[in-house]
Amino acid sequence: MRTKGIPIQQLLLALALLAGVCWNLARAGELRGVTVDTGATGTRAEIQLDREVEYRLIPLSSPERLAVDLPGVALRKGLALPSGGGLVRAVRSGHPVPGTTRIVFDLSDKVAALRPRFEPGGNGPRLVLEWPGDGAAAAATPTTAAPAATDPLAILTQGAVTGAQAPEVAPQPAKAPEVLPQPAVMRPLVIAIDAGHGGQDPGSRGPSGTREKDVALAIAKELARQVDATPGMKAYLTRDSDYYIPLNQRARKASAAGADIFLSIHADAWTSPSAKGAGVFVLSTRGASSQRARWLADKENASDIIGGAVPAGKNGDAVLTSVLLDLTQSGNLKASEDAASHILGQLATVGNMHKNHIERANLAVLRTSDKMPAMLVETGFISNPSEEKKLRDPVFQRRLASAILEGVDRYFSRQSPPGTLYALRAEAARSARQGGSP
Ligand SMILES: [Zn+2]
Repeated sequence: MRTKGIPIQQLLLALALLAGVCWNLARAGELRGVTVDTGATGTRAEIQLDREVEYRLIPLSSPERLAVDLPGVALRKGLALPSGGGLVRAVRSGHPVPGTTRIVFDLSDKVAALRPRFEPGGNGPRLVLEWPGDGAAAAATPTTAAPAATDPLAILTQGAVTGAQAPEVAPQPAKAPEVLPQPAVMRPLVIAIDAGHGGQDPGSRGPSGTREKDVALAIAKELARQVDATPGMKAYLTRDSDYYIPLNQRARKASAAGADIFLSIHADAWTSPSAKGAGVFVLSTRGASSQRARWLADKENASDIIGGAVPAGKNGDAVLTSVLLDLTQSGNLKASEDAASHILGQLATVGNMHKNHIERANLAVLRTSDKMPAMLVETGFISNPSEEKKLRDPVFQRRLASAILEGVDRYFSRQSPPGTLYALRAEAARSARQGGSP
């Protein structure tokens, strides 16, 4: 059956569609709640909604904030927002234009959020925002609004805690259980720091009697302290006091500890007191980059004889070792050079460099580091009176350590192993460039 002009079915369909559009327009989305939570992987906020809606992210700096605009969404009547937690200092809401709800997260630090995603929930979908960080660092961040939420123990024992309820967890018992379940989703980068020499092997000696083994240990310990204070990193010291470890055991110990990089810390010496500057060496099994690099390898490799690990004159199966090394080292030599160049670049900002490029030498301590980038850092010339004095100075030791750490940080920011905070950050930076609803 047909009427003149428009067929009746089409007319009815058009009316039904129009009604549907009107109904959707009239029915605003509802924001049902906001929660902020901290865990081992950082800070997580959830925006509870009645359905998946369009959203827009607006990162703002000075002070750091992240605004989330939700067009066509209204706040549930009487909704209380959480007071914050972890990286989030406070949560506020507003209406930049009528009909749009804006949720503002005030942040205590400049950290890019991961790409937001919707997760299904019993009470409707949740828009999930995450700022990568490690639990300890997030906990150390002071929040003015919700002191209880900064205690990771309180959060882990309480489960999900919203900021609004946070004050209720404040009177926690003084002692928390020793071992708490940690979600095994992220591992720290393990930075292996090897203080050269030790025990019966003092290393080189400065004109006023400073021993290389003591300076190397002091710098290594300071570097470890700074590494442990860096979110996403953990230090491993091959030695933490005055004893000797055979050269071929040092990188093996680091590998067993799951190291991602191996840094052997030394101080150089030369016959002339005017020789000066730091240097960074990577392994070469095919000759040294200079006569002095060869001499340095001979000197550092003699460590085992002095330390008592190898009888003098016994060179063992050096030829076979070097053939096997050529096979295994080619892969990570590139990584070693890459990491070494970042560290060399940073050391140059602290003091003199002996050479402005990486050097290569057949260093025994690096020969067993076949699975990770590895290098030997000569922090300065202990044989040079003014550098000897600086190497003993805790302030200079701190500056050296922070330069090495900065180089390590830069390297891993570009080459981040999967499952680490550095990999999450790289992902967040990528999604920050995309922004908005998917
Ligand atoms: Zn040395």
